[in-house]
Parts: sequence; C-alpha cells; structure tokens
Amino acid sequence: MPGIRKFPIGGTHLPENKDLTTGSPIRALDPPARVVIPLKQHLGVPCKPIVSPGERVSVGQLIGANKEGLSARIHSSIRGTVTAIERHSMVDHSECDCVIIERDQNTDNQTPAPDSRTPIKGPDAPVPDADTVRERVEEAGIVGMGGAAFPTHVKLQVRKDTPIDSVIINGAECEPFITTDDRLMQERAAELFRGLEIIRITVGARTGYVACEINKPEAIKRIVEESARWPHLEAVRLDTRYPHGAEKHLVKAVLDREVPIRQLPMSVGVLVNNVQTAIAVTDAVDHGIAVTSRVLTVSGSVVSHPGNFQVPLGMSLGDLVAAAGGPAEDDYRLVVGGPMTGILTDDFSIPVTKSTSGVVLIRPGEYADRSAEVCIRCGRCVSVCPMYLQPNRITTFVRNDMTEEAEEFGVNDCILCGACSFVCPSRRPLLQWLREGKAKSAVLADDRRRRNPV
Ligand code: SF4
Ligand code: SF4
Repeated sequence: MPGIRKFPIGGTHLPENKDLTTGSPIRALDPPARVVIPLKQHLGVPCKPIVSPGERVSVGQLIGANKEGLSARIHSSIRGTVTAIERHSMVDHSECDCVIIERDQNTDNQTPAPDSRTPIKGPDAPVPDADTVRERVEEAGIVGMGGAAFPTHVKLQVRKDTPIDSVIINGAECEPFITTDDRLMQERAAELFRGLEIIRITVGARTGYVACEINKPEAIKRIVEESARWPHLEAVRLDTRYPHGAEKHLVKAVLDREVPIRQLPMSVGVLVNNVQTAIAVTDAVDHGIAVTSRVLTVSGSVVSHPGNFQVPLGMSLGDLVAAAGGPAEDDYRLVVGGPMTGILTDDFSIPVTKSTSGVVLIRPGEYADRSAEVCIRCGRCVSVCPMYLQPNRITTFVRNDMTEEAEEFGVNDCILCGACSFVCPSRRPLLQWLREGKAKSAVLADDRRRRNPV
C-alpha cells in the first residue's frame, strides 16, 4: 500500500477527542413517540407531502416527493399515524414544512429487520445498469450524508464533457469528537466497498479509493483488509491534519490533482462521496432499503454517555441527547455537526435530518464561543488557511459592508472550515463573519442578476 498522503500547505492540528466514542459500537435507538420529518433535507426544492393528517404510515413509506427540480424523496422513519403537516424550526434558523408522525403503541416491526441487509455482495456480484442504479438511489431518497445533502442520483449522472476516472470515499472525518464514519468503516466495510464499486461502475471510473486519516487505526485495518478483495478499489491512509475532509484537499492528497477555485472535483475527473452515502447506495441498490435513519455521534466533554447511534430521521435533538444519558453538567453549549463547522443552538426540538453528522455538548469557551476582540495582526489565520486566503482582511471588509472588496479577496473561495477561527489568539469569530460575508455576496449577486438579466 502507498505511504501516508497529505495536502501540502495550510491546515492545522486539533485536539481530536475521538477516544470518547471510537470504541463505541453503533447502537440502534428505539423509535421515539413522535418524529418531525422535514420535507426538505437536501439541496434543492422542498418535497410536497403525499400523505395527510390521520393517515397511517409504515417504516420506509414514501411521504414526500417533488418531480419539479432538484430534490430527494422523503420516507417515514417510524410506523404510526400522521398527526399534522406544519412549519418547524431547522438548525440553520430557517423554517420548513414537516410531517409529524406519532408512533404506534406497539413498537414491533418499526425498523427493517437486520437480516434484510444480507447477504452482502462481493466483487464478483454483478452491478445493475446505470439507469437502474440511479432509479433505485432516487427512490431511496439518498443525499450526501456528510453534510452537503446533494441528491446522489443527480451526482451519479455524469456529463459527457466531464468524464470521471476516479471515485473517492471521504473517510477523513477530521472534525473533533465525531466518529460516525470511523465506526461505519469498522463495522460495515464490506457494504462500503460494495457501494463504492456500484458507484465506480455507474459513473464509468477506473479506480475507487476509500481515504481515511491515520488517527482511526481500527478503521484503517478494516478498509485495508477489505480492499484486498476488490481489484479496482484501494484503501488510502491520510495524515491527520485539519481539514483533510474538505473535498479539494482530499483530491489533492489522494490523487495530487488541484481542483481549480470555484470548480467541483468532477472538473478534474473525480467524484467524492461520503462513507454513509456509499453504504446507503448498497442498501438501496441491493436490498431496496430507503433512507429512514442515519448513524451519528453524540459526544463532547459534557455528555454523560457518549456514543454512536443509528437514529430514526425526525427524532428531536432532545430525545437524542437523552438517549446518550443527557448532559453531565448544567452549563454547556449544544453544537449540531462538529465543533469546528457546526451550528450552535439551544432549541432541543430541532429534528435529526439526513445531513446531521453529529451532536456535540461542550463547555462554554471550549470551541465555538468567540468574542470580537481586536486583531493583533499575528497572521496565524493566514498561515493555516488551506485556501491561501487572508481571513483577517476579508472579515474586516465583511464587517464594514465592503462586500465587493471581500469578494475580491476571495470570500467565496472560503470553504468554511473554521481553521482560522480556531487558531486566532484573540478568539475572533472569523467563521461567523465569513458565513455572513458569503450571505452578503449572494444577495449582491442576486441584485446584479436582477439589474443585468442575461
Ligand atoms: S478563511 Fe475560510 S477556508 Fe480559510 S481557514 Fe478560514 S474558514 Fe477555512
Ligand atoms: S489570527 Fe486573529 S489576531 Fe491573528 S491576524 Fe488573524 S484575525 Fe488577527
């Protein structure tokens, strides 16, 4: 196997805190009494409900779809009765129409039987033709489960002008505390490689890679063992460096290819997918199973029993945190996602969606709390930026409403990794300002389009 690979410039080392859960096997949670299932859990247009209050639904039953525009189907995660379709708050502070389902008293048959996922197909098993694969992936409602939530059936549609020669499964998982992909690689490596093989053949790529940072030794062991069975698939070891999980840095590290600024990996012949997404592809294509739950980590210095859980979609953060024993201290911060790029919230009614990669409870000031202290011009934010930007200057423009100048200095090239915020000795909320800068730039772009329609 080739040596350890890494991207060349920028990035930083973080306190990883993965030891809290790397040894915790994935535990399937019981269905909660009530789920709130958002009709938009993907990039694109929301689904329209196809069930009504009073209707009974089963696990995996289609409850939302939209054929007009980019979208991904939504299925029920529990067996029960639809009680309402109403607006509910989401973690990004938006609101979304949701299907509310109350669970049946009898909790038998709430989830697909575990043996419905066996046998797991090996390297000699045929892969259905590309149209059939895309159809099954679309029916299952699969989206990028690393956080991007882009509909996977669309990602598998390769354009003639951008052929794909390589597929990379992103197992870097460089966010502190989060061990979702780590555990999936340890426990479901065979399904992961089968999913990668299905994707590789569907998009016509020569080679597939599963890339994992070396801070996950058990996962590395499993993917190296598994890769020996698959002639066109390889396991790749990555150095531990934040943000290896950013797509452009992953492509650079694995294949030594530069993805040009403002372009996607497919511009250099590469498709990147998340670990859990590839396993969902196996579930959909080989077993006809829709996405009704996801694996995520609940961890942090303030969680009583950190662990990795298979969670029905629509379960509230409150129910989820309670399943992990609740907070062990009174004063804490709740972060959805990892502590570097996640979103702080105090709303425990927010539901788990297909893109919720983790929930972290940390002490105030541990990662996410920032204050607007003065910049001491130390330059650390510049030296760690993996996109070679000047976060200090960009954020000064953003804060002074100089959006065009922020654009000139590359605010839209920022990948929101948070490395600059993390190293800033003045604890300036650079990531928050960069997010604001991108939002202001989007408004400006809309305005430009309105004034100069093509
Ligand atoms: S400016 Fe953006 S890309 Fe650079 S370190 Fe900060 S968050 Fe990451
Ligand atoms: S790291 Fe913080 S204090 Fe140092 S230059 Fe950047 S913004 Fe200023």
